[in-house]
Amino acid sequence: MTASAKRNSTAEWQAQDRKHLHPFTDHAELGRIGAKVITKAEGTYLFDSDGNKILDAFAGLWCVNIGYGRKSIADVAHAQLLELPYYNTFFKTTHPPVAELSKLLVEMTPKQFNHVFYGLSGSDANDTIVRMVRTYWNLKKQPKKKTIISRWNGYHGSTMVAASLGGMNYMHELADLPLPGHAHIKQPYWYGDGGSQTPEEFGLAAAKLLEDKILELGAENVAAFIGEPIQGAGGVIIPPSTYWPEVQKICKKYDLLLIADEVICGFGRTGYMFASEPFQIEADFMTLAKGLTSGYMPLSAIMVADRVAEVLNSFGDFNHGFTYSGHPVSCAVAIENIRIIREEKMVETAHDETGPYLAKRLEEFKDHPLVGEVRSMGLVGAIELVKDKKTHKTFEPVGKVGTICRDHCVKNNLIMRATRDTMLLSPPLMWTKGHIDEFMKLAKIALDATAKDVGL
Ligand code: PMP
Repeated sequence: MTASAKRNSTAEWQAQDRKHLHPFTDHAELGRIGAKVITKAEGTYLFDSDGNKILDAFAGLWCVNIGYGRKSIADVAHAQLLELPYYNTFFKTTHPPVAELSKLLVEMTPKQFNHVFYGLSGSDANDTIVRMVRTYWNLKKQPKKKTIISRWNGYHGSTMVAASLGGMNYMHELADLPLPGHAHIKQPYWYGDGGSQTPEEFGLAAAKLLEDKILELGAENVAAFIGEPIQGAGGVIIPPSTYWPEVQKICKKYDLLLIADEVICGFGRTGYMFASEPFQIEADFMTLAKGLTSGYMPLSAIMVADRVAEVLNSFGDFNHGFTYSGHPVSCAVAIENIRIIREEKMVETAHDETGPYLAKRLEEFKDHPLVGEVRSMGLVGAIELVKDKKTHKTFEPVGKVGTICRDHCVKNNLIMRATRDTMLLSPPLMWTKGHIDEFMKLAKIALDATAKDVGL
């Protein structure tokens, strides 16, 4: 039993927690059933306050790329806390961990990126980018260029601006979002919307929607386009190969800045260090978080392309920043995390070995009565549950069957997430083929139990 589990019983922890507000939580339900109390984690396993050992196929929230319980990370954080626990990077100041991390990120990221700005989360990083985009166009004497186009069902975070960039209706509702200056187009979701088109045809058609929206708004009013290379929270939507090159062309044609939100995709998730590489995205900004520290400390980084930085730097003070921008402990942890990812060849393994093996094993679910499509790239994947495999018809109401399946996963000590009726996985990159085999067994139990519940 872990130390925290010994201190209190599950019921006691739940009673202390019950009244408080949690992210993305139905509080009436939380009050009724109480929270799951996670007390410890090791490798890819979580342990709860009842002593259950749970396979985390979601790497926390798509973030614990190196797995839990890495002692060297704790050692680095400990040493940094003793040496310089805090200092800021405001007003022409710096410190060794932030300078070293910036050098590393510039070396690792695509060649146009030679400038880094730090935040604490993916959300505030995207907020900062919007601020930089506005500043850029104002300095370029094109102040009308304000609107940012993004995709319905995209996810870019939870601040007011990040949620406006995102295309989640359930986040816009009740909060009067999106804010002015945001427009959305449909996502490149071939399985759901492709109809009789090939993926390649559909990819071009989905990109053309960007051009249509620019023409509708007037290019002189449009500042930028933002997208996740693969949409994560929206359901691991992997665009056809034709999509991003066409988007890139359109951004160039109409003079839009291009923002690649690599918060999930970055640091090896897709079998590439950054997904901009396989999708051929040459962005002006790249948003990084999650895998940057594998979630051990909060940190985000914005990579700013030379052509943008030159303009931003042509003016005086950039009056923006957070007390904890470039926090020394977070930066030290990020450096050690990147060392582990590189030294243990996690990206190469996800590309050459575990990624292809996961894709092959997921194919087995295609024969399952509930499963319409499986898709994956590297170690991020989805199992789409449908009512009718032939027509791709979804269940009504959407989301119910996904929730049933997710609950069966939890009952069997497996963490997968459900978006609508799509089961999502994004495990730590230290997964071996053995972990994939273990996952397949547990996922099959959950799928079979779900099929039984819905009478299939
Ligand atoms: N962008 C993407 C693509 C994300 O998936 C997320 C979080 N899931 C964010 C931004 C927001 O990051 P954070 O939760 O750290 O604010």
